Amino acid sequence: SLVLVTGATGFTAQHIVDQLLEKKYKVVGTARSQAKADTLLANFSKIHDISNLSLEIVPDIGSSGAFDDILKKYKFDYVIHTASPISLSPVDDLYGFYVKPAVAGCLSILEGVKKFAPSVKNVVVTSSIGTALNFDQADNMDFVHTEDTWNPLDWSDVKSTFQAYAYSKTAAELASRKFVEVNQSELNYTYTSVNPTFIFGPHVFASNLEFASGSSEIFNSIISYPPDKEGPFNDIVSLACDVRDVARLHIEPLSDPEKFHNSRLCVSSGEFSPQTILDVLNSRFPELKGKFPKGNSAEGEKYLQTHGFAADFSKTLKLAGSLTPLEETIYDSAKQFFDFKEKL
Ligand code: NDP
Repeated sequence: SLVLVTGATGFTAQHIVDQLLEKKYKVVGTARSQAKADTLLANFSKIHDISNLSLEIVPDIGSSGAFDDILKKYKFDYVIHTASPISLSPVDDLYGFYVKPAVAGCLSILEGVKKFAPSVKNVVVTSSIGTALNFDQADNMDFVHTEDTWNPLDWSDVKSTFQAYAYSKTAAELASRKFVEVNQSELNYTYTSVNPTFIFGPHVFASNLEFASGSSEIFNSIISYPPDKEGPFNDIVSLACDVRDVARLHIEPLSDPEKFHNSRLCVSSGEFSPQTILDVLNSRFPELKGKFPKGNSAEGEKYLQTHGFAADFSKTLKLAGSLTPLEETIYDSAKQFFDFKEKL
């Protein structure tokens, strides 16, 4: 079967491509530039038979009909749409940078497949847990977030880069679900969203650590805290998951589209703070003893009990099976980072 993966150069998408090739799917990926496509192909050629991987260039997912030519050129069985703006750097035009491409990208995929790719059986879109969390209810342990809750953020409330990002994903998912609902009777495909929490985990190619961005950059900055940094280490409290699980959950719906139709797969292996990460470093890397701050593990755990987001994503677990324990995710990502740093 042939799968289109948009944003194939991304941290998460590389795992999706890797797992698809492992499972003997044929893949067409999109990249924003030829240079990025060439690097990706060269990397994959080291670990897979790349006769099953082609790359196409889509410079701007926000432009109208962005994917039409590609959808006409191939006969796809499935589409996985991951490309969406995600950045920690400040931007001037928050709406233009985040919201426009996020919404337009989703709609051009869904419309393009409807018009030009009747062979597609399932479209899986990478959304975000930011669409399901109510940030006003952070630290309220009585408000339980589920696959049925929505972020009520209005554009007029958006003050930060992070809020603009969360808004962009919410607007994109709402617009996508509406499109599917309105056009249901004319669609040959089913729709599934994957809504990850903070995505941690190793990169498919360690060399990408040099340009790590987003959640990977946040993780790497925590594991690089100097040993004399003072706690408490609870300035970030959120939910997290493993990139390999996120990739797997994009692929599971392909073999059973009906089972996953309209589902919203909210991927979380649990809550973390920087203290959680330091605890794993201190317990699992005895050879690096003294190189990280210790903080206070018991205080850190106590803090998590009353802070962050209460959540119950058991619907997802029922559909998708068990997830990697956060400790293993933290260990594997840190191990790759330390090995890579040693090689530099
Ligand atoms: P990456 O930044 O590694 O991947 C993002 C991908 O989208 C890249 O391929 C990037 O291309 C592409 N992209 C970004 N903006 C545009 C644009 N304007 N036009 C075309 N392509 C664009 O991040 P992740 O792998 O973490 O993100 C993948 C998906 O997962 C996104 O949809 C993100 O919203 C979602 N997500 C991520 C979370 C996380 O914690 N990391 C949590 C929840 C959801 P290029 O390589 O050229 O920059």
